[in-house]
Amino acid sequence: MGGSPLTKVALYSVLTVIAPEAPTIAVEDKMITCKDCGNQFVFSAREQQFFAEKGFQNQPQRCRECRQARRAQNGEHAPAPSGARPSFEAVCASCGVNTTVPFRPRGDRPVYCRACYTAQVPAGV
Ligand SMILES: [Zn+2]
Ligand SMILES: [Zn+2]
Repeated sequence: MGGSPLTKVALYSVLTVIAPEAPTIAVEDKMITCKDCGNQFVFSAREQQFFAEKGFQNQPQRCRECRQARRAQNGEHAPAPSGARPSFEAVCASCGVNTTVPFRPRGDRPVYCRACYTAQVPAGV
């Protein structure tokens, strides 16, 4: 008796099969056009990997500068914890005072400050 050469072959093939197969995605730098300013920016391989690790499905829409600008804006206007109502700056169509409204002001509708709004809508209706 003794070890037969067959055993070795079998073992070898098993090892080959269970060898870790990393889901290698072809990662290389990518050019993306910024949604805000229209400039092209690099979505680098490293960033793509970072996104993949985080499980993000979407690639970035904006260049670094626009993202930073947005972040800065958000930090200024909305230190609001999640769940807080959004507020948008608007100018009252009646008295012209600066006010904030809980919806995004649209061009087709006048926005009123709280005082003017209350004055317009009769109480109790
Ligand atoms: Zn941009
Ligand atoms: Zn007003």
